[in-house]
Amino acid sequence: MIFLVCLIMPLLDLSESSSKPSDDEQKIFQYIDHHQDIFVQNLSDWVAVESDSIQPHLRGNITEIVKIAADSLRALGATVELRNVSAQDEPYVQNLSLPPVILAELGNDTEKPTVCFYGHLDVMPAKKEDGWKTDPYRLTEVDGKLYGRGTTDNKGPVLAWINAVRTFIALNMTLPVNIKFLLEGMEEAGSLGLEDLLKEENKIFFSNVTYIVISDNIWLSNEKPALTYGTRGNAGFFVEVECCKKDLHSGSFGGIIHEAMSDLVALLDSLVDSSGRILIPGIYEDVANITDEEMKLYAPIDFNFDEHKMNIGVKEFLYKTKDDILLNMWRNPSLSIHGIEGAFSEPGIKTVIPSKVIGKFSIRQVPNMNLPTVESQVKEHLNNVFSKRNSPNKLTVSMQVGAMPWIANVKDLQYEAARRAIKTVFQQDPDMIRDGSTIPVAKMFEDITKKSIMMFPIGAADDGEHSQNEKINRLSYINGTKVFASFLLEISKLHGASKLMTAT
Ligand SMILES: [Zn+2]
Repeated sequence: MIFLVCLIMPLLDLSESSSKPSDDEQKIFQYIDHHQDIFVQNLSDWVAVESDSIQPHLRGNITEIVKIAADSLRALGATVELRNVSAQDEPYVQNLSLPPVILAELGNDTEKPTVCFYGHLDVMPAKKEDGWKTDPYRLTEVDGKLYGRGTTDNKGPVLAWINAVRTFIALNMTLPVNIKFLLEGMEEAGSLGLEDLLKEENKIFFSNVTYIVISDNIWLSNEKPALTYGTRGNAGFFVEVECCKKDLHSGSFGGIIHEAMSDLVALLDSLVDSSGRILIPGIYEDVANITDEEMKLYAPIDFNFDEHKMNIGVKEFLYKTKDDILLNMWRNPSLSIHGIEGAFSEPGIKTVIPSKVIGKFSIRQVPNMNLPTVESQVKEHLNNVFSKRNSPNKLTVSMQVGAMPWIANVKDLQYEAARRAIKTVFQQDPDMIRDGSTIPVAKMFEDITKKSIMMFPIGAADDGEHSQNEKINRLSYINGTKVFASFLLEISKLHGASKLMTAT
């Protein structure tokens, strides 16, 4: 037993990491390099399908790309099921059936871990007239950048994963793990039908899944790879004030009534101060304390403060240091005011007193904040502020959206395996990053399956997801394929070693 422990300890030593490709990796990387034009051609074929899930009349295209993807998986030897899903009363359904979701599996060796890859085949709308330099549905390569809708979000990463598996098979190498794929076609429209499917399949498809990998976000930097271990949640509120039954003339009634808009502006102004601090009593109480270990993850992160400022076109940030910016972007809550419904917003002056106005704001909440607690703190605070105004108007506060934050354990074996794979392919450690926005799918997988989830991006910060001129760098796509292949080898090794360790 002592001998065994000695043998496997180096494998589990997190500081140890060989960045030199193994013989198997060298063969794999060589194959990928030699076949990169074929991989790019596959991406080109996929991009050519306008699988836009937002416009209902294009729904048939999603079914088409689902079929193409299913065929690619069958060609690997996978068992593929096209599962019909439904979602009633959803805005994007519009009496059209939803495209099927792909559930595929390859290998069922009980000695090996099972890695399930999630990705999506649909895209956001894109038209040349929106300001694209190239046809969004015709993959165009310029200076090593592959332009086209869906290249980075999410067809490129899905194909990189398929290419990685294909490489093992082409080289007659045994797959180091069992692989499952869950590919959907309605992600951009809110993953319609996915939650019910996950619940139905939790004890079936997911029963033997050990790790779930999502590659549907991007790095923080243009050059340095990253792994994502957390996202913020979102609690969206409406605060409605009504002062009278209809809009009034300010010349006739201004000065004698309590105006709804004045109440609302005071209420909104009570939410956050000029330093960005949220003023709702108790709101920070549940925020997880930052540990020294967590803080250490921030120091090596590649984040160019000035470039970021320039990219978004602001003069100053609320904070002066890189750490403070990242902490407040990712792991501290923030409150943003979005708009006022019912207020006059056209050009010029209209001397009106609006009868009813609705202020809209949201709080990006973080671990360990609790949604019902946030909701009651917000309501209590606004009612308090309102009561001090002695206004006879009607106040209604409601929470419209509530999505929870997600956080993973960076010490989980699959994070270590991905870190090693990145080190081998890119010769550097990844940035360990969070995402300030809300990515509900990670939380959904975690809540339902209770499995280990990792977000493993391969695209660069300037890829332009959802934007004009979306692209993925050829190098990101090819290195992404390599890094996924290397990850499969690493997770198999680490998983095996940890099993042995538990057994001893
Ligand atoms: Zn996406």
